[in-house]
Amino acid sequence: MKTNHLEQALRMADDSRFSDGQISALLSALPDPAFILTRSGCYAAKFGGTDSRYYHDGSSLIGKKLADVLSDEKSAWFQAQIAIALASRGLHVVEYALAAADVKGIGSDGPVETIWFEGRVQQLPYQVMGEDAVLWVASNITASKKLEALLRMQSETDALTGLANRRKLMNSLTEHFELFVRYKAPTSVLIFDIDNFKTINDEHGHLAGDEAIIGTAEVCRRELRSTDFPARLGGDEFVVLMPHTGSEQALPIAQRLRQRIAERAGATISGGLSEIRPGDLSYADVLKRADEALYRAKRDGRNRIVR
Ligand code: GH3
Ligand code: MG
Repeated sequence: MKTNHLEQALRMADDSRFSDGQISALLSALPDPAFILTRSGCYAAKFGGTDSRYYHDGSSLIGKKLADVLSDEKSAWFQAQIAIALASRGLHVVEYALAAADVKGIGSDGPVETIWFEGRVQQLPYQVMGEDAVLWVASNITASKKLEALLRMQSETDALTGLANRRKLMNSLTEHFELFVRYKAPTSVLIFDIDNFKTINDEHGHLAGDEAIIGTAEVCRRELRSTDFPARLGGDEFVVLMPHTGSEQALPIAQRLRQRIAERAGATISGGLSEIRPGDLSYADVLKRADEALYRAKRDGRNRIVR
């Protein structure tokens, strides 16, 4: 009968028949690099992680101290994580970024860009070089970190215009409302809506409508200060959050934006402007006032900002 690999492996474990050679081959076959680091921050040993597509060759680190090869800040961080793992006696999991340039003396073969690592740090049950020590396994999680960043960006961005979307806007409004409550930082909110947008769609087609929306977003990006925060609420509606700006100061900014959109985006807009007031219970109160002002701007003939 054919013995399968699992049975074979189990039998080897049972018989404790790994030779020293086999154990050392096994350690070097570990896909992720594993370091033994002492409490004082000395690299005592390194196993595995030999694939240069994922890792730099860290074997030159052996015998060196964290402080010899890393910046003061990074070395202090590593040492603190070692202390936490030793104090917890359990598994300590951390995430960190390192580029080859951050580590003095490691080989130039290996990834060029910054690598994101997940470090799994575990106290060793015996001392190394007369000190407490940990096993630090470093896994390259750059691909999933990049995907995570991309997904986060997409979940906060309006696909048509590249502006912040409704979700991101609501988060920013919450943040700025809290800043207002705590520091009384004046904060204005402009809601605007393209005038007679249905006519643009009906007379020139949906693509022309989309172009007007994209053009409007482009003007917002170009004309507003980098601290202002334009977002597309949906359809032909936009919101601009203006931190550190009372509505009196915000009015000429909103007027200029209206003029520029009329000149460059082939459409006029109507806007309602308000600011967070003491007594507001949430950002919804200021949005409601701005929306009511927008309604009056439409009613009074469009192509205007009402405060
Ligand atoms: P008003 O001046 O009162 O705002 O009139 P309006 O015609 O602009 O009316 P409203 O703002 O209610 O109409 C918005 C229209 O925008 C309705 C919808 O068909 C259209 N729309 C919503 N999203 C999009 C989009 O992504 N692209 C295009 N082309 N049209 C959209
Ligand atoms: Mg409209």
